[in-house]
Amino acid sequence: MRAVLPGRFQPFHKGHLKVVEWALERVDELIIVVGSAQESHTLQNPMTAGERILAIRETLKEYLDRIYIIPVPDILMNASWVAHVKTYVPPFEAVITRNPLVKVLFEEAGYKVLEPPAFERSKYVATNIRAMMLSGDPSWKEFVPEPVAKIIEELGIIRRMRELSKRD
Ligand code: NAD
Repeated sequence: MRAVLPGRFQPFHKGHLKVVEWALERVDELIIVVGSAQESHTLQNPMTAGERILAIRETLKEYLDRIYIIPVPDILMNASWVAHVKTYVPPFEAVITRNPLVKVLFEEAGYKVLEPPAFERSKYVATNIRAMMLSGDPSWKEFVPEPVAKIIEELGIIRRMRELSKRD
């Protein structure tokens, strides 16, 4: 079975990694849909789709023979989103998600929904990780896989966020 795992991954954190590992125990191939691919250079979406793909790929090196990583931009119509996703990815039978909107849309489109357990959900929150990055709290690194932290530092994502938080 092949399944999609949609997410914004701003940034890809240790909770996401647990979800991927949980999924790979249940499906043959996983399609990681990097959603909101058009978004970047904002405090909510600091990384480009390409930067997110790099971070995910570096983290999942040992699994890459079973993984696709595909960017998909958002569209204005939620009701058409599953059909939109389908045009970007290989054929699949199931979706892996805990996001209520994503769940409803794929369910209504007739797909099997696999819901992973919450892996320390209150700890691994991308919004909090971005807040730590912006405030200069170095503990953000504990919440993301090591390759993600390295790429965020190499690409100057924190400096970018600080610049974006300034007023003109
Ligand atoms: P996310 O990066 O917050 O999370 C990705 C997945 O991991 C989610 O299913 C989330 O529940 C799960 N997760 C995160 N931490 C976890 C943890 N600790 N334990 C267990 N599960 C955990 O992404 P998201 O917000 O779900 O992303 C959905 C994407 O789909 C967004 O880019 C959104 O814009 C897109 N989308 C677009 C449309 C449209 O274009 N109309 C409609 C629906 C969704």
